[in-house]
Amino acid sequence: MTRRLTYTLIVTLLITAACGESRTSPDQGSSTYRVVATTSLFADLARLALGTAVEIDSIVPAGIDVHTYEPSPSDASTITNADLILMNGLGLDEWVGSLVEATKIDPSDVIHLGEGLDTSYSWTYLMSEEPDAEHGTDPHIWLDPNGAALYLQKIANRVMLDRPNLTLEIKRSLASGLASLQQLDAEVRALYEAIPKEDRKIVTFHDAFGYYARAYDITIVGVAVSSPGQDPSAKEIASLIDAIREAKVTTVFSEVQFPSKILASIAAETGATVLADLYSDALGAAPNDSYLGAMRSNATSIAASMQR
Ligand SMILES: [Zn+2]
Repeated sequence: MTRRLTYTLIVTLLITAACGESRTSPDQGSSTYRVVATTSLFADLARLALGTAVEIDSIVPAGIDVHTYEPSPSDASTITNADLILMNGLGLDEWVGSLVEATKIDPSDVIHLGEGLDTSYSWTYLMSEEPDAEHGTDPHIWLDPNGAALYLQKIANRVMLDRPNLTLEIKRSLASGLASLQQLDAEVRALYEAIPKEDRKIVTFHDAFGYYARAYDITIVGVAVSSPGQDPSAKEIASLIDAIREAKVTTVFSEVQFPSKILASIAAETGATVLADLYSDALGAAPNDSYLGAMRSNATSIAASMQR
């Protein structure tokens, strides 16, 4: 056995021992608590909940679609020594399962942010008017700031349980994070309330804005693809074009992580303009590299498109 290999083996054993220890009892020590989220957007929500008390990383690179992401071997090393993995669940980032299996991460250290939420407001509902297995549950709960608030609460609760010594600091971050979300929601609501309800209509690339539309009383006229990774059929494109004409929508929105020729041709056909870009699953460049920034940018561009 080479010296290097022996070293690697010892390091691996040490890591394994350390991880095993932190799982059986809350680690009150000084080692940094490490959170890894599937997307930069969830990492930013974790930052809003936890502040600088912990280290936070994410897996899916900028500009890449989370729905169809295929994890690489380097992603396995990113999550290997994580204390907590944040995923959305509800079909968005199920590929985490293979990473967890490969790295022997304890499944109880993986939080499904979008699952098991308060059902009184129907946070999990089917995309389709006629529920069927193909359409599944809409995972994009975070696009309603009130949904994002539930994610923050869930993240903070778990880390405070794992690291009671960080409780005070996290409670402070959480309170300020929740206040920022409330402020955001009020701003966005005021923007849309200034627009007559019959003008509040949008067309987006993928079916991500259901909860958002419900929160701000917006009608989704149509989407280019119901699920990323699949091209729409000629029939679906034709019916979207009809819907855009009938609703007199003048703008269709692309999304940062989905460069789409289909939207451009639909827009050309209807005389609508393609407006780049909405932030749905991925964040962008500053100032849209944060959830709050991206959501403000969305509201400003969508509301501007609704002006008559
Ligand atoms: Zn999505």
